[in-house]
Amino acid sequence: MTDTINENQKGIWQAVDLICDTPVLLILQSLWLGINRFDALHEATGLTKTVMSDRLKKLSNAEIISRRAYNTRPLRYEYIFQERGFKLFETALMMYRWENTWNPDGVSESFKLQHHTCGEYIMPLCACISCKDEVNPQDIDVTLNIDIANYPETYVKRRRQSGSAALKKEKPIIFQEIAEIFGDRWSTLIVRAAFFGVKRYDGFLKATNASTNILADRLSWLSEKGILKKQEYQVNPPRFEYVLRRKGLEILPILLFMLDWVDTVFAPNDPKTVTLRHTKCGSPLKVAPKCSHCGEILSFDELRLKTS
Ligand SMILES: [Zn+2]
Ligand SMILES: [Zn+2]
Repeated sequence: MTDTINENQKGIWQAVDLICDTPVLLILQSLWLGINRFDALHEATGLTKTVMSDRLKKLSNAEIISRRAYNTRPLRYEYIFQERGFKLFETALMMYRWENTWNPDGVSESFKLQHHTCGEYIMPLCACISCKDEVNPQDIDVTLNIDIANYPETYVKRRRQSGSAALKKEKPIIFQEIAEIFGDRWSTLIVRAAFFGVKRYDGFLKATNASTNILADRLSWLSEKGILKKQEYQVNPPRFEYVLRRKGLEILPILLFMLDWVDTVFAPNDPKTVTLRHTKCGSPLKVAPKCSHCGEILSFDELRLKTS
């Protein structure tokens, strides 16, 4: 039974495995800025050529990007988004917004997002496609369709890496802090579990399958980062629980778009991971990014990401 479930749920874990990786996020960021040749990508990301080649191959195998020759002698390639890559842009927009809110110094000064339709520099908002209203975490009714503790053994452990550790030199990074969190799958799993109402140590242990020392390390790291708040729920003996702070709650749109991406384009034949309802309008929740200025739903070709 468990094996069957795992087999059917491969999509979500393959996606997390692929996207929750700092070098991958750096490459995607550069591609969205219009940098798509190998040498230019190498220069823009500061990644080593070995790491670059490896991640470009993974992104190509997952059909997020494809490569095409722009020069035949010598043979040179550039990398372009496929349909799956365009759709993943929505998740990246929510990451951009989160970084702007929580690390405005680096992001707002280095990157601007222009909406071609209204001409303004804008912020992407998470909207419900039925009522077009902005979606707030408290207005979502979540039904979990899978047991999140069940995941394939192939979902291997990887050491936490910071954005800067993956780099040879300092570069402006849009996804600086969010890449640190999503770049560590245990933290991603803990944050996900917290959204599903898990508060206590044993609950996180069950929901993530992490070892006790990894879990303790990540819980205190996420608390230091201001994502979780450690609070005492029993005095004698002292017992603690972890709840999402505002900074953590605002990760929800990123998770919603990531789940939508997996369910609609990455693994459309898998059973849906979650069923969501927008309690404000009563409709099944389908998210879409909308413009903070004109309120229109945003699409990839109407946006320009600019460096300043
Ligand atoms: Zn709605
Ligand atoms: Zn607009």
